[in-house]
Amino acid sequence: MLPFNRPYATGNEITYIGQAIAERKLSGDGRFTMACHGLLEQLLGSGRALLTTSCTDALEAAAILCDIQPGDEVIVPSFTFVSSANAFALRGAQLRFADSLASHPNLDHHSVEALVTPRTRAIVAVHYAGVACEMDPLRDIATRHGLMIVEDAAQAIGASYRGRPLGTLGDLAAFSFHETKNVISGEGGSLHVNRPDLFARAEVIREKGTNRSAFFRGEIDKYGWIDIGSSFLPSELVAAYLLAQLEAIEDIQARRVAVSRRYDARLGALGAGCGVQMPFLPDYASENGHMYYMVLPDADARARLLAHMTRNDILATFHYQALHRSRYFHAQHDGRALPQADRYTECLVRLPLYADMTADETDWVADRVETFLHTML
Ligand SMILES: *Cc1c(COP(=O)(O)O)cnc(C)c1O
Repeated sequence: MLPFNRPYATGNEITYIGQAIAERKLSGDGRFTMACHGLLEQLLGSGRALLTTSCTDALEAAAILCDIQPGDEVIVPSFTFVSSANAFALRGAQLRFADSLASHPNLDHHSVEALVTPRTRAIVAVHYAGVACEMDPLRDIATRHGLMIVEDAAQAIGASYRGRPLGTLGDLAAFSFHETKNVISGEGGSLHVNRPDLFARAEVIREKGTNRSAFFRGEIDKYGWIDIGSSFLPSELVAAYLLAQLEAIEDIQARRVAVSRRYDARLGALGAGCGVQMPFLPDYASENGHMYYMVLPDADARARLLAHMTRNDILATFHYQALHRSRYFHAQHDGRALPQADRYTECLVRLPLYADMTADETDWVADRVETFLHTML
């Protein structure tokens, strides 16, 4: 069976993990964590990085930094991973789900302003497939209504919006280093803080609500409980793995983009000719090779394509189940139809894509998809 994902390793991961063990410093914020912060800050060009144990944790820290109180409203796309919404639900927020664009699973920025009420506190911009949301109109809405923007940049490392790195456009951003993402550490994430006035509190929230980080820098002579927080920092073993990946990010991205372009050369025009919605890169976005997806004309066609791929020993998969219809949330949803979120839930397929996928493997998948598409002509 050809896997959907295969975690990539550069070879240096084990060397760095070995060094962390030999140096006998395994808890967080040692030299490997600091090196990762440095590389992330260099890659993004502005803002401050704080490693977390997951993107979910980074989003939970962001929700605390947004000062979300029970009853506050947060605008989130419905077609996203649970954590984009759950992090705010944990703080008692009422979620207002936005629909996706017809052209792309990203949230429809045109629909956002109508969702703003006096209780709205934040907009969560999820860059699906590493493709930027249309950020300037979102920033304009946020400025006029005094809202925070949190970027869920879980899939978006190394991609940009109008030449600006994703992760630097919100007040806060969250990256994921889960093994299914481009740059990985098994489980892992980082909180990117773009507002200097939020950084000190971010450090405290990440260290169980204490000012331990300032203590270790020698800025204060003892540390204590000064705020709410949690244990969001990863161990040096995780940071050591991640450092090897961040050092190789250009190579990793180039490999993934090459696979994605190879799929596109084989399938782009054919799919479009069969009424399949193929990946779309708006002129304001750059790609990072995170994902190759196809949106079939209906749920039945999707089921047939998934079955066809399984029969051919290839693991292709669907993606999110729209959150406004989820078992946890549907009774709280305000009842608005979100037809695009429903359509992506029912019709989207993702093809295998990983950094060391060979041209032969890519062609093998493309051949099978091509056979299927010919039955749709
Ligand atoms: C993967 C992902 C997350 C969660 O990341 P974790 O590191 O597993 O917590 C959140 N949002 C989006 C859009 C994701 O793709």
